[in-house]
Amino acid sequence: MNIMESHGYAGKILQVDLSSGRMELLPTDAFAGRFIGGRGIGAKIHWDHLPPSTPALAPENRLTFSTGPLAGLPRLAASRWVLTGKSPVTVPESFSYANAGGSWGAYLKFAGFDALTITGKSEEPVYLFLHSGKAEIHHAAHLRGRSAIETRQALKAELGKEVRVAAIGPAGENLIPFATVLADEDSSASGGFGAVMGSKNLKAIAVVGDDRPAAADPERLSALAERLLHLRKGTYDPYVPAIPGRTRRRACWGCIAGCTREVYRAESGEEGKFFCQSANTYRRPAMKYFGRWNEVIFHANRLCDHYGLDTAVIEPMIEWLERCFEEGILSETGTGLPLSRIGGPEFIEALVRKIALREGFGGLLSRGTLQAAEELGPAAVQALGDLVASRANEVRTYDPRLYTITALLWATEPRRPIQALHEVSLAVMEWVYALKGGKDAFMTGEVFRNMAERFWGSAAAADFTSWDGVALASKRIQDRTCAKESLILCDFLWPVIWVRYGSEHVGDPSLESQALSAVIGKEVSREELEAIGERIFNLQRAILVREGRGRREGDALLDYFHTAPLSSEHLNRKLIVPGPSGEPVSRRGAVLPREAFERLKHEYYGLRGWDPATGLQRRETLARLGIEDLAPKRAIEEESA
Ligand code: SF4
Repeated sequence: MNIMESHGYAGKILQVDLSSGRMELLPTDAFAGRFIGGRGIGAKIHWDHLPPSTPALAPENRLTFSTGPLAGLPRLAASRWVLTGKSPVTVPESFSYANAGGSWGAYLKFAGFDALTITGKSEEPVYLFLHSGKAEIHHAAHLRGRSAIETRQALKAELGKEVRVAAIGPAGENLIPFATVLADEDSSASGGFGAVMGSKNLKAIAVVGDDRPAAADPERLSALAERLLHLRKGTYDPYVPAIPGRTRRRACWGCIAGCTREVYRAESGEEGKFFCQSANTYRRPAMKYFGRWNEVIFHANRLCDHYGLDTAVIEPMIEWLERCFEEGILSETGTGLPLSRIGGPEFIEALVRKIALREGFGGLLSRGTLQAAEELGPAAVQALGDLVASRANEVRTYDPRLYTITALLWATEPRRPIQALHEVSLAVMEWVYALKGGKDAFMTGEVFRNMAERFWGSAAAADFTSWDGVALASKRIQDRTCAKESLILCDFLWPVIWVRYGSEHVGDPSLESQALSAVIGKEVSREELEAIGERIFNLQRAILVREGRGRREGDALLDYFHTAPLSSEHLNRKLIVPGPSGEPVSRRGAVLPREAFERLKHEYYGLRGWDPATGLQRRETLARLGIEDLAPKRAIEEESA
């Protein structure tokens, strides 16, 4: 085992051009100081190399897999990996990102690289093999058409069971815009990057090695990990195993505490991940169809992973198809789908296969639910209701009509910003748990206000019936999230905004900067780290503006959020939020008033140092953040503004 001289980082980024087969090394140093790693480094590479008009599926698009300085260090829940690039699923196509767990990120670091950035297109299917600081391109014709899980298994048989594999399935090969990249432990990266891999004829990336990173101050880091374990004790106690006797917890590499990440063991002996949204993809229709638990719920998730399809898109699509069938808009003969058996195995098998292979009606569905509905006509659009949250067709969760703080999070990001949304929703869920009198519950209205004051900038943000403090809270959450996704810390444990077993129950916002300081051997304050997060968010904004979105008119939500009364939310069925004194207030029937939303944007732009009329960044803001060199004239405040 080698211990690298530089702390935290491997020191190099591998650049691969699949058209020519040429490989180069970039020094991580050139990026790390200002952008840390992960989402920050990915965004900077995108800014430097990608002309804004490049189509997502063109060979010139650049797909970057990045880790952060904490990856490969144990006990921190910090070995996640981020993909960045032009996404085919955003509307319009733009820069986006995806964040995945498991062990692949740690193994990329062990292979000797902080990041891997890929451009070009191979003439034949290939896979990349990164090991011990070396990289090889191998033929992958024998893997063509195989599922993402089969590909992983085949490469382990070929290269050794220690390798970690990120692969695409048939959906990625067939350029389905919502195709995923799937890695070990079934960690899945969405954002359409499976299609980007497919467009490059890149079937998989295998990584392995012994280059273990070292922290500059291991004792300090170890003490911090102990503190994290103590602070996070019991965080997921209220969440019992999904299926007692069938599921068991299995944490990602280097996770100190774990979460609800579970593995299901089917009667056939097959095992696979079973947690979070993906475990619910087919739960509602299957429970309705069978009237009780059925293993098809697990197999539906598994099928999506095999084909490499995003379950966050498939879940609302199924409900929309069900509505269309019930209302006579779609028929079994017209679609070739067994629509009368939604909830059963025949339906999900046919649906996933037809989409991934673009068979028949699956060709229309492969464009996305909203796009398919628009093609079918007004009745189909009407049936869609509020099932999807954006034109990228992601399932509606953490609705801004319910949680006002999430309105700007949804509106200013290119995708469902799940890491930022979790900071709000997990806190509210804990408050709901306390209302129900849950065991060891602690989140009173007072604790919620104290938490909001410390982490979101003001106690006013704890009142979900008011707009006071919402813009500042949104900015603080986004900046912290950008730093977190650059380190890269898992959002199920970070930030530690609340503590179940503690005297005051409010967490410590300086833990992230302490961890980074211990790893790199240079003191970074909480304020400095948040400023880096703000820089990364602004870099992303400059990219989005350059690519044709990210102006005031583009910071928008789907229309129904402003017009249709709220009637449901998956994880908050009673639709309650904390009111002015922390008392429960129902948001049933709420809409997000358009004028209030526009006023909120105005306040938010002011806090960000952006021009309130256009949403464009001011020159002095970019200068304050140390990125004035990054923005060409059109990406910042126009001279005439
Ligand atoms: S908290 Fe859960 S998702 Fe996060 S690193 Fe740990 S096991 Fe993985």
